[in-house]
Amino acid sequence: MTHKTIACEFADVAPLLDASAAAAAASRCHYCYDAPCIQACPTQIDIPGFIRKIGNGNLKGAAVDILSANPLGGACARVCPTEILCEGSCVRNHEGDEAVSIGKLQRHAADWAMARGEPLFRRAPETGRRIAIIGAGPAGLACASKLALAGHQAIIFDARAKPGGLNEYGIAAYKVVEDFAQREIEWLYSMGGIEIKTGLALGRDFTLDELRKQYDAVFIAFGLGGVRELALDGESLQGVMNAVDFIEQVRQADDLERVPVGRRVVVIGGGNTAVDAAVQSRKLGATSVTMVYRRGVKNMGATWAEQEFAQTNGVTIVTHAKPVRLIGEKGLIQGVEFERDNERFVIEADMVLKAIGQTLVPIGVDKELLTLDGSRIVTDENRQTTLAKVWAGGDCATHEGLDLTVQAVQDGKLAAASIDASFELTAIKAA
Ligand SMILES: Cc1cc2nc3c(=O)[nH]c(=O)nc-3n(C[C@H](O)[C@H](O)[C@H](O)COP(=O)(O)OP(=O)(O)OC[C@H]3O[C@@H](n4cnc5c(N)ncnc54)[C@H](O)[C@@H]3O)c2cc1C
Ligand code: SF4
Repeated sequence: MTHKTIACEFADVAPLLDASAAAAAASRCHYCYDAPCIQACPTQIDIPGFIRKIGNGNLKGAAVDILSANPLGGACARVCPTEILCEGSCVRNHEGDEAVSIGKLQRHAADWAMARGEPLFRRAPETGRRIAIIGAGPAGLACASKLALAGHQAIIFDARAKPGGLNEYGIAAYKVVEDFAQREIEWLYSMGGIEIKTGLALGRDFTLDELRKQYDAVFIAFGLGGVRELALDGESLQGVMNAVDFIEQVRQADDLERVPVGRRVVVIGGGNTAVDAAVQSRKLGATSVTMVYRRGVKNMGATWAEQEFAQTNGVTIVTHAKPVRLIGEKGLIQGVEFERDNERFVIEADMVLKAIGQTLVPIGVDKELLTLDGSRIVTDENRQTTLAKVWAGGDCATHEGLDLTVQAVQDGKLAAASIDASFELTAIKAA
């Protein structure tokens, strides 16, 4: 593929609405009383409220509604699977009609606010409280932003070179294009009260105990840093890799033409990550991409819209097939043997991407903080852990929703509110 063709393939998947398209989209909202879309949004944005403001040309008011409920409203407008969240519950979402374009309208107002460059919110006076946050992904950033607004200082530590978490390293390149993740962080940063220290990892450069002693509170938001293995022979063959590593290469590439991709790619898994890896392989020029999932389409983590997106991008989806063997020759992957209904078949491949789930890496975290199987950090409904002065949220913690950017943002918000309230309680006790 030529340089130009690849660039087109990775262009923004949902381009911006212009002013007249936004006004037309806004006019379709019924402004429901008790709007179901608000309940379906994990951050509970006042959706009819911001849409009405867009309709009246009040973009600033709309942006305030969105970004006060969801500090990463720009990212969420791009990455939320709206078909199972806000738009999925829109009353217009029935046969012969379609849901209001809530995600696109949200992006219209949030992007307007970011382009203006000025902070929308003013911080409360400095309180002198300092909170350490481990992880600069959506959960950590949302928590920092809310704490900073309340007048506290949020100091974020992140193991990687760039902040943003999966917004920077994981989300498909055509959903969050160019340097949007970094621009959004700059915008949050411009409000003041947030410091980000990169290249510093819990368990390697500092301990939880040190943070508890040095700071007034700690929020753990380090996501899921490990990946599940297939535990099959041949996993170390050349051409077999973790889908998240492949996606990271795509996201961080200066030149997409140089990202190595197979001609025949097999992606094992049925979630978001599998779809993103499969579609991006196709966009990079793979001639055949097959996504293989061990159960049926209904059980897939990828929503119906994502499955459809994969198929319209030339990905073949095979269901009810379990990988049993990775076949190689001279150290190179040649194909994968699958089993379905006691029958075996082989799909030839020169690249295999494993997307069967991420796992918690509990380095630096006491065992007592974790669930029995060690898969998550246990929190209450306010994201408080069992350890005094420590909160946790986002993918690394137990929460009622799915592992999504918008849920991580909500976790960060809830933790910030609980941390802030705990200071008031301390003040009352000390008085
Ligand atoms: C490939 C992929 C595609 C996805 N696509 C979507 C999508 O389209 N829409 C959607 O809503 N959700 C999507 N998700 C899910 C979403 O990205 C996550 O739910 C969300 O990023 C979780 O946020 P978080 O802040 O908890 O963790 P993360 O975003 O993972 O951030 C954690 C941060 O902690 C840092 N860290 C890790 N360990 C340490 C340590 N020991 N010390 C210090 N820092 C540390 C990491 O460097 C990282 O910056 C996708 C996930 C993946 C993997
Ligand atoms: S944050 Fe996501 S779920 Fe909530 S209204 Fe916006 S697009 Fe919908």
